[in-house]
Amino acid sequence: MISVFGSANMDLVAYVAQAPRRGETVTGRAFRTIPGGKGANQAIAAARAGAEVTFLGAVGDDGFGAEIRDTLAVAGVNVEHLRKVRGPSGIAHIVVDDTGGNSIIVVPGANGTVTAPDAAERAVIAGSRAVLLQLELPLEAVTGAARAAKEAGVPAILTPAPARELPDELLDAVTLVIPNEHEAAAVTGESEPEAALEALLDRVPEAVITLGSEGALYGSRSGERLRVAAVRVEAVDTTAAGDTFAGALAVARSEGLAAAEALRFASAAAALSVRRQGASTSMPTRAEIDAALS
Ligand code: ATP
Repeated sequence: MISVFGSANMDLVAYVAQAPRRGETVTGRAFRTIPGGKGANQAIAAARAGAEVTFLGAVGDDGFGAEIRDTLAVAGVNVEHLRKVRGPSGIAHIVVDDTGGNSIIVVPGANGTVTAPDAAERAVIAGSRAVLLQLELPLEAVTGAARAAKEAGVPAILTPAPARELPDELLDAVTLVIPNEHEAAAVTGESEPEAALEALLDRVPEAVITLGSEGALYGSRSGERLRVAAVRVEAVDTTAAGDTFAGALAVARSEGLAAAEALRFASAAAALSVRRQGASTSMPTRAEIDAALS
């Protein structure tokens, strides 16, 4: 079983020719509500890639919370430990304009109430083959989950997004970090991915820097360095490519695949996701990933 200790949001997406300026009202073309949040996305990616997945986090007692819970459950994610707290669920208010550019307001809501894991959540983490973490929950909560994993000898895989400085207390308990190149630069202060990789390996045993259509770089403290090319596909929507990559990588590693094979699996899954519109709806099933690799 893989556990995900992370955020769950409702994405409220308005599509418009041109985003409104201050004081202006414009008529949009379409509106969609899409369950998201990096935690929920990674959980769904891992479940679709073939793992048993338990989600740890919180939603509010509103309609969005119920919809988020249903979406996770329908994707096969265990939501028994997903808390329902008083107040609103987390939301991301997203305006997408005709150039494909967007502006986003995230209101953490229930995600902001999550604290370090309690006894029941620690037991779930301790019983996992890996725990997936991101930075959309309060830092103390994420650090608590990473430390619970370390105490239980469970690998903790961190996507450091949104990027911020990472305290030693957190990184000491993380076994693998997966930033994209911008996050890697923000975390390390190194703009070249190769240099950022070395800087990350001073602080964690293993690191993967994802480079979009350029693939990914991997390194471990034991001296291994790998570069995996992205699978060539016609990109339709790269939303959540990174979350698909992280979820699939955790599945491959938890099944005992070595780094090179696990990276190939994750790259195949991420490439399949960019061929389709949407976030969780675009994530490939295990059968699709296996077919792409054969
Ligand atoms: P997002 O924020 O959209 O979730 P990200 O910035 O976290 O993505 P990226 O580095 O863009 O992550 O992409 C993650 C992985 O997805 C890449 O390492 C690659 O394997 C795959 N990928 C991304 N874009 C493409 C593409 N255009 N074609 C093929 N594979 C892609």
